[in-house]
Amino acid sequence: MKTVSATRYDRMTYRRCGHSGLKLPAVSLGLWHNFGSVDPPDEARAMVLRAFDLGITHFDLANNYGPEPGTAEETFGRVLRQDLAGHRDELIISTKAGWRMWPGPYGDNGSRKYLLASLDQSLRRMQLEYVDIFYHHRPDPETPVEESMLALDQAVRLGKALYVGISAYDPQGTREALKILRELRTPVIIHQPRYSMLDRRIEDGLLDVLEDEGIGCIVFSPLAQGLLTNRYLRDIPAGSRASKEHGALRPDEITPELRAQLVRLNDIAARRGQSLAQLAIAWALRHEVVTSAVIGASRVSQIDDSVAALDNLAFSRNELRAIDEALTPAATGTEASAQR
Ligand code: NDP
Repeated sequence: MKTVSATRYDRMTYRRCGHSGLKLPAVSLGLWHNFGSVDPPDEARAMVLRAFDLGITHFDLANNYGPEPGTAEETFGRVLRQDLAGHRDELIISTKAGWRMWPGPYGDNGSRKYLLASLDQSLRRMQLEYVDIFYHHRPDPETPVEESMLALDQAVRLGKALYVGISAYDPQGTREALKILRELRTPVIIHQPRYSMLDRRIEDGLLDVLEDEGIGCIVFSPLAQGLLTNRYLRDIPAGSRASKEHGALRPDEITPELRAQLVRLNDIAARRGQSLAQLAIAWALRHEVVTSAVIGASRVSQIDDSVAALDNLAFSRNELRAIDEALTPAATGTEASAQR
């Protein structure tokens, strides 16, 4: 068992999650990649413990994180028991259900049957009595939203989740879900959308809805899965997400146009005395309504680098304009233009 750092709360910034009583670290750690049964367990453990030592109190999981699906929750549960057993009340642990998890009609989407069974499975895998936040992972057009929201509400009533959230819902779907949850008096506090310099869709309405509703926002993949880092400025390094068979980033997404954008952004970062990853995180956190950026990592040094983004969160108008320009001219035909 490792001893946790006595100075773990000295540097991290905590931001209030919407109008709720809960604060989250400005940088949270997600366990989508690099914490599964295919990944080195010692590095996974070291990353969780380093994150906690840096003041990252929030760890984001989902039923299907691995691979194999479910094994990221098992890895995290093991670290909790071995190293952080006395610190449960210092942690915000989230999980989700909404993507395919088991065969047949009850292991996917948004039915009450699936969501509640999945939460029980997640709790067993992590060996927890409750999670802090339980999310519906994605909207399900075939299930009435009321059914999915009643399942989230039930999770709270059963004492299996303290708060609930939704992920990847569009602005209108978000309004509908929040209306139902408010009527039920369910403690809904957070939305988890994708947001980075390469995917700015939430600027077209969702951020306004969240601000208006007083709901927190934790943005996922702020580094665009590693694109917005020094990883791919020249080539596709061995061991990177784009090089891995089970990675969600395809090498053919890294076009010459995209690489040119990344190089321009890297120059802007350097002028600010930041790494590209730090620039990307600071940029995502520039909206007040964004409570936290949930990053991924494949090694401890990346977590150190990413958290240091918090040392410089201020942007001048000129810097913001330069970033927009760096993204725009060569954006034609890239992911950035398709997704904005
Ligand atoms: P990021 O965009 O932060 O990408 C993480 C990757 O970037 C790492 O695996 C690593 O790549 C690289 N990286 C991270 N930090 C650095 C650094 N400082 N310097 C250089 N490279 C760095 O996030 P993810 O895509 O991993 O997503 C983060 C979390 O968001 C997930 O774990 C999950 O919790 C959540 N999420 C939620 C979704 C939802 O539907 N709600 C969907 C997707 C994610 P490499 O591995 O190549 O080293």
